[in-house]
Amino acid sequence: MSKHGPHSHDGDADGCARTARLTPGRRAVLDILTREARAIGAYEMIDMLKGADGRRPAPIQVYRALDFLVDQGLAHRLASRNAYMACGHKHGAREPVAFLICETCGRVEEATSGPLAADLKSVAAAHKFDARAEIIEIAGRCAACAA
Ligand SMILES: [Zn+2]
Ligand SMILES: [Zn+2]
Repeated sequence: MSKHGPHSHDGDADGCARTARLTPGRRAVLDILTREARAIGAYEMIDMLKGADGRRPAPIQVYRALDFLVDQGLAHRLASRNAYMACGHKHGAREPVAFLICETCGRVEEATSGPLAADLKSVAAAHKFDARAEIIEIAGRCAACAA
């Protein structure tokens, strides 16, 4: 018998191994983040998890699931929006990422850049600063909204 059946996650084998450990509740949260491809706040997430019977999960459960996904590198927290999004990019755990946040449609794209990472590392090094997370949030309009 297969350890895990078909799944909607289109990641590589590594992503598959990471998501295989998810509880159903955490997986449901990740599935919504992946499907929506935008930043989602905890309370909107709670609404989206509402069952057919109208029952919502407890906020603490949703916050724990979101924290877990961020810890595992499966999602990121956008400080400027107090919201979360799935990590759609294959990058190292401590690699700097830039988020391009569309203020019109809410779409968020994640990008990495070698030169940007090198610059950020030299900035931190110049200040003898041990960076834990390097996240840049860039606000503006996406290609579709600017067209
Ligand atoms: Zn990411
Ligand atoms: Zn847009």
